[in-house]
Amino acid sequence: MMTQGKPIEELKGIGDKTGKLFRRLGIETVEDLLHYYPRAYDPMEAPVSIGELKENEPGAVRTVLAKPADLLRFNGLQLVSVPVKDLTGSLQLTWYNMPYMRSHLKTGMPYVFRGRVVRRRGRLTMEQPEVFSEEDYGRLVSSMQPIYGQTRGLGNKAIAKAVSQALALRRLEREYLPEDIRRRYELAEYNFAIEHIHYPKDRQDLLFARKRLVFDEFFFFLAAVGRLKEKREDLKSDFPMKEVPEPEILLSSLPYQLTKAQMRTWKEVSSDMCSGRAMNRLVQGDVGSGKTVVAVLALLLAAGNGFQGALMVPTEVLARQHYESIVKLLSDCGLPQKAILLTGSMTAKEKREACRMAENHEADIIVGTHALIQEKVSYDRLALVITDEQHRFGVGQREALGKKSGGAAPHVLVMSATPIPRTLAIILYGDLDISQIDELPANRLPIKNCVVGKDYRENAYRFIAGQAAQGRQAYVICPMVEESEMIDAENVLDYTKTLRKALPDSVTVEYLHGRMKGKEKNRIMERFAAGEIQVLVSTTVIEVGVNVPNATVMMIENAERFGLAQLHQLRGRVGRGKYQSYCIMINGSEDKGAMERLDILNRSNDGFYIASEDLKLRGPGDIFGIRQSGDLEFKLADIFTDADLLKTVSMEVNRLFREDPELTQPEHEELKKRLDSYFQKSYDKLNL
Ligand code: ADP
Ligand code: MG
Repeated sequence: MMTQGKPIEELKGIGDKTGKLFRRLGIETVEDLLHYYPRAYDPMEAPVSIGELKENEPGAVRTVLAKPADLLRFNGLQLVSVPVKDLTGSLQLTWYNMPYMRSHLKTGMPYVFRGRVVRRRGRLTMEQPEVFSEEDYGRLVSSMQPIYGQTRGLGNKAIAKAVSQALALRRLEREYLPEDIRRRYELAEYNFAIEHIHYPKDRQDLLFARKRLVFDEFFFFLAAVGRLKEKREDLKSDFPMKEVPEPEILLSSLPYQLTKAQMRTWKEVSSDMCSGRAMNRLVQGDVGSGKTVVAVLALLLAAGNGFQGALMVPTEVLARQHYESIVKLLSDCGLPQKAILLTGSMTAKEKREACRMAENHEADIIVGTHALIQEKVSYDRLALVITDEQHRFGVGQREALGKKSGGAAPHVLVMSATPIPRTLAIILYGDLDISQIDELPANRLPIKNCVVGKDYRENAYRFIAGQAAQGRQAYVICPMVEESEMIDAENVLDYTKTLRKALPDSVTVEYLHGRMKGKEKNRIMERFAAGEIQVLVSTTVIEVGVNVPNATVMMIENAERFGLAQLHQLRGRVGRGKYQSYCIMINGSEDKGAMERLDILNRSNDGFYIASEDLKLRGPGDIFGIRQSGDLEFKLADIFTDADLLKTVSMEVNRLFREDPELTQPEHEELKKRLDSYFQKSYDKLNL
């Protein structure tokens, strides 16, 4: 037996090297592994005849080898290959760089081969099939095999094996949800749910396990929200403010007028900050609605009152961009206030300098990533904290920042582009007041969209070249960083080469992805923002917040692989200025459902509409494959498809804390422990 807190290397077969790979997936302990839920499930279907196999899909055939496999060598590659046939057709089985397959496979024996079927040089081919004995496959048929998120060098089999081991060795947890709740909502027992989310017997079983774990995710989250609310309610502010000229100066020097919605939101924010109570406000606004300027106004209000303000964002790229635009705004309107940047990728020397300026209040506005909390920095009268486009301001973060500023609690402003209906927003952001920027600036031309197949690429390249010739810029998004054997999707590195060939030499093409060093990313992003790069091939690292108004084309390869919310965010990178903008979504799949889904984006540029249509299409039974974007990310739960459960849990959390506010009743003992450790973990994540 093994306690779940043990490091992953305690499992058999996981040494230093493999351990590192697991860590790359964010898995450090056995516990983490047990909570590393499958991304999807592979239902193992009964074998079919060769004629029934579908191209470009996985399939299984039962067959007997009539002759031994051949081993071919070319281009440094070893190819094991053998033809098989039945009454309905013939099929080539091939394995790359697995020479041992040749002796492994016996003639005259029945096997089940399972793998992806493609057509190669006119021949139906199954590539890298897995090999099963008939009995083994018989046992697996109709089961659902887990498919995990993988990383280079750590495949699905290895992860599944580790999970099986962890499940076998784990110490069973005590149930912590009160019995009456479990009975009322027919929730699976906790240990059962964990096992069956990895290895469900069938779909029914999977839904049962999932419901329990989703319930838990919501439950802990909402308990935390409740706790925050309690702490925040009517909190007297340590930083009462009065109206000062700075925001007005900024407003009068902007090249545009605020929209009505921006103005209303700004008024709500400033009256909060001047009310004598601590502000806790969420500003919700679709991509491009102009949230940043509201943030800057609030920062100036704080600065004008002699206080510091911080703006925290999820990525280095975004931090640098915000920092630069704030510096420019300040100098454009001649204000003396000073902004600085603090991010993890800065050199030790740069960080030291930034910390010094924060500490002695040479800086009024501090822009950064989580480094704002993590670095050894202290602030001087930090009166306002704004988070943009990231996980909500979590349990403990506010206190953490408060501690870095002599213990006083700052005003909090959370900015989000996630389009959630008001009923859900009130639950999920129960501790915050809500402002909505429900209007786009008037100068915007609606983005023109198209969803097309790969054969449209040539046109798209010509179109991009044309836009570049007019001085505009383009993004091209690929799902992968580099080529993968497992996944058939475009990758940034190869695509960049292709584009460099396809586009005229005068068009500079560069790439950006998450595995690049922070410094490199910054350099590329700066050059793109400065117009030195015309086409930026990127993964979704540019998904949130990035603002280059001169970019007019967003081309997304394998658009079918992204969730609609994510596509909407990506598309939001264009159409941010006065130029007509375009979004070209390349649908790399034949699937009818994919087309239907993408068509929603084709029809509308409105985040709320997209979210609600997406929901209709998916329905509450559809549980995988769509990642939410930005904040509010749960591992399993989906605030849209699980909206009913969310409301239920909200009711139960309220009831629980009404009946037993401190959770002192004996039947809540285990739950209290769990909740405390959940809160504690939120603190620990911040390295306090
Ligand atoms: P988001 O809400 O997505 O964060 P931003 O704040 O980045 O949007 O604004 C997008 C672009 O719109 C920026 O280039 C900004 O300067 C511009 N902008 C903001 N408000 C207005 C407005 N009222 N009129 C015209 N342009 C605006
Ligand atoms: Mg933004």
